[in-house]
Amino acid sequence: MKVAVPREITAGEHRVALTPDAAATLVKSGIEVLVESSAGAGAFHADAAFEAAGARIVADAATLYGQTDVVLKVQKPTLAEVDHLREGTVLVSFLQALTSPDLVQRLAARRITSFGMEGIPRISRAQKMDALSSQANIAGYKAVLIAAGALPKFFPMLMTAAGTVFAAKTLVIGAGVAGLQAIATARRLGAQVWGYDVRPVVKEQVESLGAKFLEFDLGQADTEDKGGYAKALSEEASRRQQQMLGEKTKEFDVVVTTALVPGRAAPRLVTKATVAGMRPGSVIVDLAAEAGGNCELTVPDTVVVEHGVTIHGPTNLPATMPAHASQLYARNVTELLREFVKDGALALNFDDEIVGGTCVTHNGAVVNAAVQAALSTGTAS
Ligand code: NAD
Repeated sequence: MKVAVPREITAGEHRVALTPDAAATLVKSGIEVLVESSAGAGAFHADAAFEAAGARIVADAATLYGQTDVVLKVQKPTLAEVDHLREGTVLVSFLQALTSPDLVQRLAARRITSFGMEGIPRISRAQKMDALSSQANIAGYKAVLIAAGALPKFFPMLMTAAGTVFAAKTLVIGAGVAGLQAIATARRLGAQVWGYDVRPVVKEQVESLGAKFLEFDLGQADTEDKGGYAKALSEEASRRQQQMLGEKTKEFDVVVTTALVPGRAAPRLVTKATVAGMRPGSVIVDLAAEAGGNCELTVPDTVVVEHGVTIHGPTNLPATMPAHASQLYARNVTELLREFVKDGALALNFDDEIVGGTCVTHNGAVVNAAVQAALSTGTAS
C-alpha cells in the first residue's frame, strides 16, 4: 500500500500531514510512504529527514498522485488537486464537507473515497484521531498570545515601586476546546479570566481552570445536541444573548471569541454597538472569523481598529505553529489510517462508527448523511 503526502498549496499553510517520525511508524508497519519534495519545509522537516525515516521523495504532485492509494493532506484540496487524483484514491484531509458543496460533488464525480478529519466522532476510541481538538488547542493558545501582544497593558497584576497595575480582564466566549485552552493560557499569563458558553455543562470545566463563569438566562433550556455540540439558539434567545453579553463585554480588556455551531454561520455575539462601548485599547481576537465571525466588525485575516478597539480575525492559527500542529495532526491521521488497514492492505469497514462516520464520498456517491442533508437543503454554501 502506498501513502502519499503532498506539499500544501494553500497560502500561509505551513503544516504537513505527516512528520518524519509518523512516516517511520507507517514504514515500519509495511506501508510505502511517498512525500512530495519540500512538503515538510514549512514545518521544518527537510526531505532528508523523511528519507531517513524510510520515505521516498517525489519531485512533484502530479507524479505523486499518479502512483498512490492513499493521500494524506491538511487543507481541503482545491478542485484542481482533486482532478489530479486517480479514480478510487482514498483521501484523508480536512474537507469542511458541510460547507464545501462544489468540492464534495467533485470528489464524488471523480470517485474518490474521501474522509473528512472534521467528521471524526467525539468518542473515547477516536480521541487520538481528533484533529479538530488537536488544532483548536493550538488556536486557543495562540489567540491569547496575539491578544497579549496587541494589548497596551500587562496581563498580570504587578506591584512595582512605580505603582500597581491591575490584571487584564479577559473574557473567553465559547468554552469548547479552543476556548478552554485560551482560558488556561490567559490564566498562565496572570489575567483575570471569565468564560462563557451556551452549554451550562462547561461551567465546571471553566471554573476548574481558575476562571469565573458568566451565566445568563436566555429563556432556552435546550442548548446542546446529542453529540455534545451547541445548538443554534432561537431568534429570541439570540437577541437576549447579544443584549446581555453586550452589556458585560464592555467591562473587558480582552475578548477571545470561539463560538461555533457545526455547519452554520458563527453566532453573532459582539455587535458594533458593543465594540463602540468597549474601552479604547481593548482587544478582540475572533477565532470564528472563518465562519463569518462572532464579532460584527471582524474581517478575516485582517486587523481592524474601530473605536480604538483592535479586532483580529485569524483564520488559520494552527499553521502559525506548524511544528507542533503537524506533529499532532500526523498522529491524528496515522491513527485513523490504522483503522483502514488490515495485514498491510486497505480494508475499509464502513460499518465501523469511525470509518463510516468520517467518510464523505465513496463509489461515486456522497455517503455522509449530514453532508447529504446540507447539500439538499442548500445550507452548504
Ligand atoms: P465548537 O468549536 O463547535 O464550538 C466552540 C464552543 O462554542 C462550544 O463550546 C459551543 O458550545 C460554543 N457556542 C456555540 N454557540 C454559542 C453561543 N451562541 N454562545 C456561546 N457559546 C457558543 O466546539 P468544540 O470545541 O469542537 O467542542 C464541541 C464539543 O465536543 C464539546 O462538548 C467538547 O467538550 C466536546 N469534545 C469531546 C471530545 C471527546 O469526547 N473526544 C473531544 C473534543 C471535544
